[in-house]
Parts: sequence; C-alpha cells; structure tokens
Amino acid sequence: MSAASPPSLVVIDAVLEGKPVGLRCEGGVIVELGPEVTAAAGEATIDAGGGILVPPLVNGHTHAAMTLFRGFGGDLPLMRWLREKIWPIEARLEPEDVYWGTRLACVEMIRTGTSRFWDMYWHPAATARAVEDAGLRATIGGPLFDLDGARAETQTRALGELDELEGFGTTIASALAPHSIYAAGTELLSWTAEVASERGLPVHIHLSETEHEVTECIERHGVRPAQYLDRLGLLGEQTVLAHGVWLDDSELELIAERGSTLVAAPVANMKLAVGGVFPYPAARRAGAAIGLGTDGAGSNDSLDLLADLKVFALAQRHRNGDATVLPADEAWGIATGCRAPLFAGDGEPLAIGAAADFLLLRRDAYELSLGDLHSNLVYAASGSVVDTTVIGGRVLMRSGEVEGVAEIVARAAERARGLRIG
Ligand SMILES: [Zn+2]
Repeated sequence: MSAASPPSLVVIDAVLEGKPVGLRCEGGVIVELGPEVTAAAGEATIDAGGGILVPPLVNGHTHAAMTLFRGFGGDLPLMRWLREKIWPIEARLEPEDVYWGTRLACVEMIRTGTSRFWDMYWHPAATARAVEDAGLRATIGGPLFDLDGARAETQTRALGELDELEGFGTTIASALAPHSIYAAGTELLSWTAEVASERGLPVHIHLSETEHEVTECIERHGVRPAQYLDRLGLLGEQTVLAHGVWLDDSELELIAERGSTLVAAPVANMKLAVGGVFPYPAARRAGAAIGLGTDGAGSNDSLDLLADLKVFALAQRHRNGDATVLPADEAWGIATGCRAPLFAGDGEPLAIGAAADFLLLRRDAYELSLGDLHSNLVYAASGSVVDTTVIGGRVLMRSGEVEGVAEIVARAAERARGLRIG
C-alpha cells in the first residue's frame, strides 16, 4: 500500500445515531460530516444505502501472526501447549512466516471492524510491513524474555528492532513489550523502564493472568504484580497491561493513579482456563482506563473483537450477579477505545478533524434491525455485520470484500505447512 496521502472520499446516505449523514475525507482526515454533505462530480464516492456509520474497534492486545497456530494443540493445558507445541515452532519462525500470519490476521480484523491493534510478537518489523501493506494501524513490540539468562542479547535485539520500526510510516508505532514479570527478570524490566522513559515509548506487558503469577511475585519480590511494576518504574500513562484477571483493589487504584491502561481478554482467559474474571466493577470504581483485546489466535482463536465483546459483557454480568454492571454504551465505548485515553488518541472518533477511520454496518443486518444499536452490537452482532471498513480514508473493505484474500490465505497456509503446523 502506498504511503502517499489517500485521495478524497465521500460517503453519502449513511446513518449516524439514527440520523442521515454524509462524510467527506481528505488527506486521511474527516473534513465534513453532516446531513448536507454531497458528492461532487467525479469524486470517489461510497453510497452507503442507509448503512450505519460507527467508529472502528481497537484490539488492545494480540499476537497477530499467531493466526499460523490457530487450531493447533488448543486442547492441551497452557504450559504443555506452550512447551510442546508453540515454543519449539516459534524458535524456527522466519520474518516471512510472521508477515503472512499477520496479513491473515489483518484480513480478519478488517472484516470484523478493527482498525488498530497492540501487538507483541517475534520479528516485529515483519509485522509492521504486513500492517502497512494491509492498511491498518498498530503499536508493535517484539517480546522481551530472559528466562534463559540471555539478557544482553535480548536488549541488543530489542534496540535493533526499535531502530527497524522507526523506518515505517505514521500508521505504525513501536513499543517495548516485556512478555511478563515471570518471563523477564528484574534487571531486564528496569532496563525496559529506562529505555521507555528516555525514548517516550509505550510499554506493553501481560500482567496478572494467572493466580500462580501473583503468588510467585509475592514470594520473590514481597509485593503484588502491579506494585512490583510500579517499583521498577513501569507503570505510567503509556503502559498497557494485558489480562489483569487477579489484580486486587490496591493494585487497581495504583494502576488508575498512574494512568495505565488495562486490557481485558475474556475469551483467551476462558480458553486457557485461568479460573478468574477481569475485576471490571473494581477497575471502574478505581477510575482505571480499560480496553478490550482478543489475545492471539493461538489462544482465542478468533480475532473478531465484536464477538469477544459479548463474552466480556456476559462474563461480567454473570460473575458479579448484576445485570447492570456493564451497560451496553459503556461496553461499546471500551471496544472502540473510548474508555482509555491511550487508545482513543486525540479527541472523539467520527468528528471533523479526526482520522478518517470508520465502519459502515450492513443495513440489512437483522441483528441491528430493531432496538438499541449499542445493545444490539454488544449482544446480537458479530463482526459479520461490518460491510465497509475505511482506515485513514482508504477503503479496505467494501460489501464484505477485502482485496487479495485468496492469495493471503494461500500464502499463510503455505508458511504454516513449512513450519509443520497441523
Ligand atoms: Zn497475550
């Protein structure tokens, strides 16, 4: 995909909050929005035919290239799955594997309405190339591990990867992504905090996914996981904490105070049987920023964030014995990144001056035909209701069709066969 500024685009006959609207994009930005917008002769135009205009979704935590591992050893317990299936193959991964796995993930995200995602995976420059070619936006970091004592090598690799990521356009941002507090040692985590602070980079880490992680942290460091991260200088406004299932009230208050973002990943938690549910009511009470993520296709196995939104809402209602715990408007806000300043960027989506990122939902989607839109999006819809995906003023999907899908699926399957997955 060309890095050049996209041509202007006009959308007519769309519906926004129940009212007819048109929208004009220029240079990747929304420049007009309202009932009076009309197409000029010869202008690239989408006639939405009454389709519903909504902001796209933000996937706050994934490992995109793990589409290659979908349906592979998924019935094993977590540690056997990792040790016997995933890690031996990941040790052989090449950039082209990551590229095609990520292209496949991007197809799925475009089809189901995600415009941006936070990724942690090997060969991050290959991920960035795939995201740029697909036309999405992503914040990308290579995972930092030093379980085997290879801290110096990890740090050198991380700095090299950050340099490589700098060569991409504005749709790609880089992050430091220490895997977790159990896979990255104290010195590596402290080094991460220093580099993140010097360079103004975000930090993306798995935190408090299992109860064992908490027990082990208390035994080793005398404090709970969020307090441990804070002690190392890793809790800040640019920190993304994936999972957070076992955080207690004191940790949630600390996270809220520091302005870090929590990303719930309910489907991966259930599939990996972590035994707990993200503490949404306490996180909300503390005032923490909250997003939603699928996690990788190896442990979900879908990247359809709208489908996960239903699971998130249902799990909260069920776990808390309270049907009012997460109103649909709030749930929709979480999925679209509007409940986390780090994900929302500057200002409201779908406004003049905002990035031209939006979806048109199928007018004939029976799931959306009656009743409250946000309630229907959370409880009745899946990603299949998305008809058109536009990111930065570029049309990435129209009438459910994404360009080049057959080749992407074939190339990803070929790479998976080469890795002897299956
Ligand atoms: Zn993950």
